[in-house]
Amino acid sequence: MGPVCWQCSGLIDGPLFCGACGALQSPPSDYFAFFGLGSKLSVDPAALQKRFYELTRLLHPDRFTRKPEREQSHSLEASSILNDGYRVLRDPVERAEYVLRGNGRGVNERRTQAPPELLEEVFELNMALDELRSGDQSARPAIEQACAGFEGMLAEADSSLMASFEAWDSGGGDTALDRIRSILDRRKYIQNLVRDASAALTAPVA
Ligand SMILES: [Zn+2]
Repeated sequence: MGPVCWQCSGLIDGPLFCGACGALQSPPSDYFAFFGLGSKLSVDPAALQKRFYELTRLLHPDRFTRKPEREQSHSLEASSILNDGYRVLRDPVERAEYVLRGNGRGVNERRTQAPPELLEEVFELNMALDELRSGDQSARPAIEQACAGFEGMLAEADSSLMASFEAWDSGGGDTALDRIRSILDRRKYIQNLVRDASAALTAPVA
């Protein structure tokens, strides 16, 4: 037997509202369950947005002012999950981090080290950055070129990420999660490199 409505004791077949009396139920805290999306990482942004607007309307505070206290309290809780959940699920990286955290693979500071295959490029970039910071303008082209290369790697990481989402969705399990964790770590590392290099390139010349 599934969950039962707190108000009419009818069976609840979907999330949030009782199909029999319409009462708002205690909302699921899991974002995927809340939005009724299943635990799929490949989310259709248009469908998610449509569901968000629909739920925003259904959970509008005006609809609950004359409802029992219990339902008002559920509506406050649901509105908060709605907004936090939408912010997380709409962004592929946030969405992946959410699933990784839920599966014991949260961000680990240790993993922010340079990926071994990038060590040489990172070393050269850092040398050029040191030169530029000490006033050697001739280091600029090397830094710009390195940034372009890293931007290309970020685009590749995004494609790999989408492919790994599909692998997880079709039952890829731990292997898919480990792959996603490693892509996100690499992506974050490269983003930081590009950010630091861009800051150095746009810093006022001393
Ligand atoms: Zn009911």
